[in-house]
Amino acid sequence: MDEKDIVIIGGGPAGYVAAIHASHLGAKVALVEKDKLGGTCLNRGCIPTKALVNSVEVLLEARMANEFGIELGNIKTNFQKIMARKGRIVDELVSGVEQLMKANKISVYRGVGRILSPHLIRVNGKEIATKKLIIATGSESALLPIPGLELPGVLTTDDILELNELPESLVVIGGSYVGVEFATIFSALGTRVTIVEKLPSLLETVDEEISRRFAQMLPKRGIEVKTGAAVKAIRKEGAVLRVVWDTPEGEQGVEGQMVLMATGRLPYTRGLGLSKLGVRMDGRAIVVNERLETNIDDIYAIGDVTGRRMLAHVASYEGEVAVENALGHSRQAGYQAVPVCIFTHPEIASVGITEREARDASLRYKVSKFPLTACSRAVTMGKTVGMVKMICNADDGRVLGMHIMAPHASDLIAEGVLAMRLGATAEDIAHTIHAHPTLPEAVREAAMGQLYGSIHFQRM
Ligand SMILES: Cc1cc2nc3c(=O)[nH]c(=O)nc-3n(C[C@H](O)[C@H](O)[C@H](O)COP(=O)(O)OP(=O)(O)OC[C@H]3O[C@@H](n4cnc5c(N)ncnc54)[C@H](O)[C@@H]3O)c2cc1C
Repeated sequence: MDEKDIVIIGGGPAGYVAAIHASHLGAKVALVEKDKLGGTCLNRGCIPTKALVNSVEVLLEARMANEFGIELGNIKTNFQKIMARKGRIVDELVSGVEQLMKANKISVYRGVGRILSPHLIRVNGKEIATKKLIIATGSESALLPIPGLELPGVLTTDDILELNELPESLVVIGGSYVGVEFATIFSALGTRVTIVEKLPSLLETVDEEISRRFAQMLPKRGIEVKTGAAVKAIRKEGAVLRVVWDTPEGEQGVEGQMVLMATGRLPYTRGLGLSKLGVRMDGRAIVVNERLETNIDDIYAIGDVTGRRMLAHVASYEGEVAVENALGHSRQAGYQAVPVCIFTHPEIASVGITEREARDASLRYKVSKFPLTACSRAVTMGKTVGMVKMICNADDGRVLGMHIMAPHASDLIAEGVLAMRLGATAEDIAHTIHAHPTLPEAVREAAMGQLYGSIHFQRM
């Protein structure tokens, strides 16, 4: 029988990163995966969606070309080629992870892992003995319990990434970041899109001012938004699907050729045998402490399966923390500075608290904002929609939150994340030389706004 220091079940960004980190720390590691390495992120999540987002970006840039003095002629999209490119990118990155497994001498077992005891795992009839076990089995699409889910044309986020034809119209149920990303991708490619959201606004977790500004842009791009609409059914009516909900004035609905269920995700633990082991659960999520330990000695859980912040970078971070604890080091996970990025046009990215959260917590805080219209690099790019908003502690200037709507917001937010991680102040950012002309200057300008006032922007 094979014997390992650590066995990890699930080869997504939680599991494969944990495996590599454990190998770097000198452990004998096995990774068990029932499907393709890379998990949801590489195969059905972050990467394929961002490949589509980048095709859309090229399209939007091409449409602006004339303004830049570039004459391109007739611009056409080819959905099959866009999807084929997405497939090639996924394959390339999955094979990169496979290479990394080999390079780090990690034994990869293909099949469903079942836990016989904290120190014994079975995969495809083979048993692996281990000192420590890490569960990284991820999540699956959560579907609303409504009639009509079985109708052809009702898609999960997995299904929509496999389409061969661009739908003529699409109803997206769910206005969180995944729904909004798909809505903006398909709308830019020519699909008529409606977003239906139960809550009073889209992107509920984003800073209110930024999500409001973003939502205001959607109708101008041809995306219809229905908020406060708790969908109760999907019906087939002739050639289309009708998504319906109740209002005080009676039933309302919208129609589309296809319907995307972007209604969140649930932890996935099927087949592991957790209840027999007595692993403590909260609904479908595995309960862990800040060391990523479960209630059972020598069993850890990381990533989406813990049902908390379902993001790839959090999953990988937890993988590293769990491995260190499993190998006798001591590290606690901290979630004060978790970046959240939305890959729309422009992008939205946040870290830390929103203005509303600061207000609700009765903190003494100060807000500064710097509009992209005043950022010279954004002007040269022809992309001036957006802003950097900074929330700092009014007493000591420490950065409490940063919220950005801008091109490359997902890259810019790294400065805010590092600032929060180091307990940096607005002055620390303002006194740091930022290259000119660049987008990060907008971050420094927002920091200047906390202190003396932004140099290149004056409110009249
Ligand atoms: C459409 C979409 C877009 C997204 N975009 C982003 C984004 O831009 N940025 C971001 O940070 N996050 C994004 N996410 C979320 C991100 O994909 C997840 O947070 C991340 O994949 C979680 O990693 P994980 O390793 O915990 O789980 P997963 O990636 O789900 O991996 C779990 C793995 O475990 C395997 N497995 C399960 N059970 C067993 C078993 N018993 N035996 C063997 N193997 C098993 C599964 O096959 C899977 O490969 C997106 C998600 C979706 C759906």
